Amino acid sequence: MDAYAIHLAMAALVGASFVAVSAYYMHRKTLSQLLEFARTVERERAAAGDDDEDGGVEREGEAYRRSSLRRGHQQHSRRKGAGYYRRGGGSASLPDVILAAAEVDGEEEDEEEQQMWPAMNGPLSAAATAEGLPIPPGLPRLHTVPEGSKQSIHGSSIKKAGHIRPTSPRSPVASASAFESVEGSDEEDNLHSDSKLDNTYLNTNGDIGPEHKSIYQAMPNQIADNGDSKSLPAASMIRSHSVSGNMHGAQPDPVAADILRKEPEQETFVRLKITPSETPNADEAEVYKILQKCLELRESYLFREEVAPWEKEVITDPSTPKPNPSPFAYTPEQKTDHFFQMVDGVVHVYANKELTERLFPVADATTFFTDLHYILRVIAAGNIRTVCHHRLCLLEQKFNIHLMLNADREFLAQKSAPHRDFYNVRKVDTHVHHSACMNQKHLLRFIKSKLRKEPDEVVIFRDGTYMTLKEVFESLDLSGYDLSVDLLDVHADKSTFHRFDKFNLKYNPCGQSRLREIFLKQDNLIQGRFLAELTKQVFSDLAGSKYQMAEYRISIYGRKQSEWDQLASWIVNNELYSENVVWLIQIPRLYNVYKEIGIVTSFQNILDNIFLPLFEVTVDPESHPQLHVFLKQVVGLDLVDDESKPERRPTKHMPTPAQWTNIFNPAFSYYAYYCYANLYTLNKLRELKGMTTIKFRPHAGEAGDIDHLAATFLVAHNIAHGINLRKSPVLQHLYYLAQIGLAMSPLSNNSLFLDYHRNPFPQFFHRGLNISLSTDDPLQIHLTKEPLVEEYSIAASLWKLTACDLCEIARNSVLQSGFSHALKSHWIGRTYYKRGPDGNDIHKTNVPHIRVEFRDTIWREEMQLVYLGMADLPEELDK
Ligand SMILES: [Zn+2]
Repeated sequence: MDAYAIHLAMAALVGASFVAVSAYYMHRKTLSQLLEFARTVERERAAAGDDDEDGGVEREGEAYRRSSLRRGHQQHSRRKGAGYYRRGGGSASLPDVILAAAEVDGEEEDEEEQQMWPAMNGPLSAAATAEGLPIPPGLPRLHTVPEGSKQSIHGSSIKKAGHIRPTSPRSPVASASAFESVEGSDEEDNLHSDSKLDNTYLNTNGDIGPEHKSIYQAMPNQIADNGDSKSLPAASMIRSHSVSGNMHGAQPDPVAADILRKEPEQETFVRLKITPSETPNADEAEVYKILQKCLELRESYLFREEVAPWEKEVITDPSTPKPNPSPFAYTPEQKTDHFFQMVDGVVHVYANKELTERLFPVADATTFFTDLHYILRVIAAGNIRTVCHHRLCLLEQKFNIHLMLNADREFLAQKSAPHRDFYNVRKVDTHVHHSACMNQKHLLRFIKSKLRKEPDEVVIFRDGTYMTLKEVFESLDLSGYDLSVDLLDVHADKSTFHRFDKFNLKYNPCGQSRLREIFLKQDNLIQGRFLAELTKQVFSDLAGSKYQMAEYRISIYGRKQSEWDQLASWIVNNELYSENVVWLIQIPRLYNVYKEIGIVTSFQNILDNIFLPLFEVTVDPESHPQLHVFLKQVVGLDLVDDESKPERRPTKHMPTPAQWTNIFNPAFSYYAYYCYANLYTLNKLRELKGMTTIKFRPHAGEAGDIDHLAATFLVAHNIAHGINLRKSPVLQHLYYLAQIGLAMSPLSNNSLFLDYHRNPFPQFFHRGLNISLSTDDPLQIHLTKEPLVEEYSIAASLWKLTACDLCEIARNSVLQSGFSHALKSHWIGRTYYKRGPDGNDIHKTNVPHIRVEFRDTIWREEMQLVYLGMADLPEELDK
């Protein structure tokens, strides 16, 4: 301030504008230094403080129950406090106010600031503070007060409100705190699992009775056993809170703490007895019999594993599964004598070359198309539509009544689940395309940094010459400085609505296919090095957020058989592996395009290129070792492209793929059948050999004819989108009864096919369809660093979804995903595969048993109605 005053005086005296300008800059600089100093002091205090600042809300509540753990816990939280702030500077994935501010500035500043921040954000030693940040004497603390003092002055009032708020303003990096405070909390996870709390809790859930008392009374003892430390009287705990200074002087709010200590009244709920004693009349009974037949048809097609994963591998160790130390290590596996050949578009497998008995027979095309037509007739019949529509409305109303009666109880149950909230329950992005998995800002920054650091890298062969990255940009008359998100122009806008073709063009940065080839392809001149580096950055963002996982869909086109080896070597050589990621293979339905440019002669060529390498590597892993290793991380097969293109409905007798030599693209259901049939056979063979299997999870019902959804009802494990189910009550009811997973992306639909406010998501959710939220294309659609949370956030706001709804959707996403049994057990509970509340662990999912039991009860009633009281319903989920 002295300097400031002197400069001002000089300015006044000399009247030179130059000085005034310099004063302004100095002032700004000192201000920012000062602010930073204040932050550093705050951090220092927190890191050294006696109790955890970041624990805030949840800790205080836990304090009552965990009194016995206190000593060990304090040490733990101190460690955590320091680690937390260290991360605060470097976290790549979390919204970070400081970094975000730095990003907005120009690129040059960007680098400078990023170098500066890590040093300044870490806990500074006293010497560093004195030397590194010269504070002009006599500066008033005025400017620094807001951030620090909010906590110290209004501490108590904030605390009070904080008990019921998911996030509380307790750290300098405000927006990051909600996520950060829960990171590295696996130790706490394990604590709970160790205590066998879950089991007792589950066994007695939902009942009103004296047992409940005993569970909650048993808790302190078990924790005491676990934490080997004596329990402290409550008074001393409160003292331990106030030790750290006035900031923590507030007494824990007894009301909120009571919720955690209380006997679990909240687990009682009002069961709906509104189901009238429904005796279907003769006409309805007829309809139900037809629905039964449809469900049985699906069962006859679908690939199910002979032995469920939970039967193969019993999880007893509740700790975090160890990450695979060498995910790409190839251990030689035995070649078998199996012989296979394509017959009319479907691979036939024989035990060996001499034997003629076909193993793993699958329904042939004629049967499939006949059954498909049966389904199509069913969904068009007036009387069946009426009955199904009526049932769906009733399901919806049942949910509404459930909410009216039990919403408060659900909320209370969630409050009483310690530690968990929406931010730290696991959620899987069940549908996201790998080439659009980064957001536009991320891609822009990556392109700029490559242009700066590797301008002379030869990246592309175009028009007869090799070009360096610099030359490519010169040929486009662009410099790094010119580039902005606007110029990049990869974002969907109003021009893409109902224009899938235009949406696809958005994959070209700056409208240039050459930039797409350089940065977003893995089979280019630099062997996909840039895309691999980008992918690794996305992986580390995911790992940083810890509670978010993704299933990336990556293309195999079927133009040549070597595509598989090329893709596998790209994955393996670049070591693209993350515990948070599995892969799906997507097949674009582009036969007509390849046919036109003469790459293929018949549809059979595409099937050969896609499936023969898979059978080769399954019979003899040695033949494609990298592909063999990669396939362990592939969990699904997808079909993609514009569903709104007109197509002719297949007849019962279609030409075989070898006969399909015309220039027209086959219909969706034709693709679907041949992919399904080959995958079914492949899975049977892989299962026989003890290998992982690949589920059929195509895009369906995003647009186009209803028969896409009819086909996938028969053959798909689960699907992406499914918004067209709103047009067919019968199919919608069947998808509900079969609980087929839908990975819905309302924001993506909003850019392409259906306005957000018309999306059937909330209706499907109320009716109890098995749905999850997914992002589809973050590059084109989302704006923030956490696209999945953005998706949840917008849905929550616009459709008024409660925390309970969000956690239920998140739990669905884990169940729908293809992650391993061990990971699912760890993420959502050891008995997750059981239907109903027995399969729910509120300590991991934050979904109240009330909600799960309600869904299960209603589904069972509905199934019993359709099966006229004769249904034999499984206690476990479908394999
Ligand atoms: Zn998609």
